Formats: sequence, C-alpha cells, structure tokens
Amino acid sequence: MIQKSNRLLNVFYEIRGPIFEKALELEMQGYKITRLNIGNPAPFGFDAPDEIIHDVIINIRRAQGYTDSKGLFAARKAVMHDCQRKGIPNVQIDDIYIGNGVSELILLSMQALLNNGDEILIPAPDYPLWTASVNLAGGKAVHYRCNEAADWFPDLADLESKITPRTKGMVIINPNNPTGAVYSEEVLRQMVAIAERHNLIIFSDEIYDRILYDDAVHFSPATFSDDILFLTFSGLSKNYRAAGFRAGWLIVSGAKYRAKSYIEGITALASMRLCSNVPSQFAIQTALGGYQSIKDLVLPTGRLRRQRDAAYEKLTQIPGITCVKPRGAFYMFPKIDVEKYNIKDDQQFALDLLIDQKILVVHGTGFNWPQPDHFRVVFLPTVEELSQTIDRIGLFLQDYSGS
Ligand code: PLP
Repeated sequence: MIQKSNRLLNVFYEIRGPIFEKALELEMQGYKITRLNIGNPAPFGFDAPDEIIHDVIINIRRAQGYTDSKGLFAARKAVMHDCQRKGIPNVQIDDIYIGNGVSELILLSMQALLNNGDEILIPAPDYPLWTASVNLAGGKAVHYRCNEAADWFPDLADLESKITPRTKGMVIINPNNPTGAVYSEEVLRQMVAIAERHNLIIFSDEIYDRILYDDAVHFSPATFSDDILFLTFSGLSKNYRAAGFRAGWLIVSGAKYRAKSYIEGITALASMRLCSNVPSQFAIQTALGGYQSIKDLVLPTGRLRRQRDAAYEKLTQIPGITCVKPRGAFYMFPKIDVEKYNIKDDQQFALDLLIDQKILVVHGTGFNWPQPDHFRVVFLPTVEELSQTIDRIGLFLQDYSGS
C-alpha cells in the first residue's frame, strides 16, 4: 500500500470533501445538484468585468515567459496604490507578492514561518484552508471562538486566553467566510492591541473587502499599528469574480525590520515555484484601477444584495433555523436546532439533504466549528433558485429526524 504522508493526517478541506465527492457522483448519474456549497461566482452568471478579460486576451503573447517570482511590476504597483486607498502605510513594491490565488500565498506564508508545534490563532468558524495550512506546515491551529450572539464578532477574552509562548500569530478573516460578519473598527483595534501586547503577527484575509452590504465599512488591521508585522491578503477571485484566473496578492507591512528572516523565507518559497500564473497577472492593474462594478451588485437593487435578503428571509422562516444576517461576502452560516431535528452529526445531515433533495451545502464542522449545529449557505444562485431551494430545505426538514 502506498500511504499518504503523515503530514496530511491532520489536514482537512471539507468544502471539497466526501460530501462534495458524493455530489459529483450523483451528477455523473444524471442528477441536477443545486450547489449552495462553493464561493465561485462565475458559474452563477457573475461575469468578471469585461475590461479585465480584454487585458488578459491582448496581453496573452506577452505572458509566455516567467515573471519575477514576486510578480509583474505593474501588477505589484497597482496593489501598492491600492494600499494607499486602504490606508496601509509604508508599503513598497518589494513588499508585495503575487500568487496563484490567495490560497497559494496562505500555504506559502505558513510553510515559511512555522516550526513543529508553533501555534497560530484561527477563528472558529474559519475558512478551513487556514487551519489546513497551519497543520500541513507542522504547526498547531488553535481556534478562538467567534460569538454568534454578538454578530459573529471574535470573542476577545477567548482569543487572548489561548495565547501561549508558542503563539506566533493570529488570523483575521474579514469580511468573514463562512459567517458574513464585517468587524467594527473598534474590535479590530482591540485585536491589534492584543497582537501588540504579545508580539504576534497578524494575517489578515481581506479577499471580500469590497463585498459589503447595508452600511458596512471595511477596515484593514494593518492601518492601525507599525509595531507588529502584518500580512494582508486579497485577490481577484471574489471582488472581481475571476476565481479561475488564480490571482491573489500578499502585502507585507508593519514591523518588517523585525522579520528579515521570515521575509527571506517567503521570498525563497516564492522563487521555488518560479512565478505565479502570468496571463492573469495582467488583469490585476486594470481590476484595481478600473470601474468597481462590484459596487453595483451590493446596492439595495443589486443582485448580490437581493439574493442575500431573499436567502435570509427564506431560511429564517424555517422552524428551528436562526441566522445572523451577513453584512459582507456571499455566505451565511445558519444555526439549526439539533434537538428538534435530532441531529448528532452535521456531516450526516448534509449528506441526507444531498441524497434526498440534491441540494449541496457544507456542514458547519467543516469550518472547524465545534458543534454539529450549523451549515453554510452560499447565496450566489438567483433569487428564484435560492427561494425554491430553501423552500425545499424547509420541506425536507418537516419530516427529518436525524438518521
Ligand atoms: N480566503 C477566503 C476567506 C476565502 O473564502 C477563499 C476562497 O473561497 C480564499 C481565501 C481563497 O481564494 P483564492 O481564490 O484567491 O485562492
């Protein structure tokens, strides 16, 4: 038997896990699966802005060779200007790394940092790639709780209580996947203050920073301090609906002078993979400098906002389901009354829903949420499709009693 590496024993990515595999199998058998499982806007009719597609096409001949391993100068310069818009100070071209999506840069930033047993604080629930990347790098993911009763904001007392001499940094996902929370300036400043007290690196995942509803405002933690190191991540996948382009960036800022060796490590790993996918690097400058069409989608009349409202209304009408209304991104993380529906294993619940209704959601424990009482809904399908699908979830639950 050829065994996988022990390094993978503690590495999970349930968004494409066994239930996803089952959905693919059902599709192969001819069933139509309604996918409320994945944050991939394009298949739901959310096209990337035309001008960025155009830029990739006209530059394709120039994109045949490798680039600098940190990325094209023009792309990095555009990210540098975007830092000025965000208010992140003192960022030079050299502090920016373009990657094959934020995913690659998350993996790389953990590989470059962690020794066995080093700890990283990660929110629960989380976007599970963070936990997986820490574990893969030999580190230990320590989860701090986000509080559903407080709009899913981080529980700061819990966060601080989990810091040990081995803690190297904390991850902040804002706007959040899977909860849709958008953190206030105050809570972010408090998180930065905790990081300052314990000299932690902040990893700020801001891939949804322009997908904001109602009066939500996004703040970057890196704007609040010069005393600690910040790694800020964003990319084209969500704000610009170009997930397949695989283009993301990492910005190193703050106390860089104390992180020379770590930064060398990041640069070495970036060099070893030569460079990131070049055609899509040509899209970055136009995306950041062009018309921000995402704004139209989040207006009260915009498609994303209407879908959020419809999904929220429908879900919260189902007996035993409650939900915090998301203020950013395109996910919600409803709570399900496990007593009422006799649910002991949320993966089983998601599987039963898939087999019975051909609806694919991701179970909450897949996001490192400790209890089996949540699931994630992606509100990218149209209002009509969302309404019909959530009605079917309601009907399914009428007769459901665990299994
Ligand atoms: N970070 C968060 C919070 C995400 O939700 C995702 C994708 O869903 C990613 C990072 C990965 O994005 P990319 O497509 O840039 O690799």
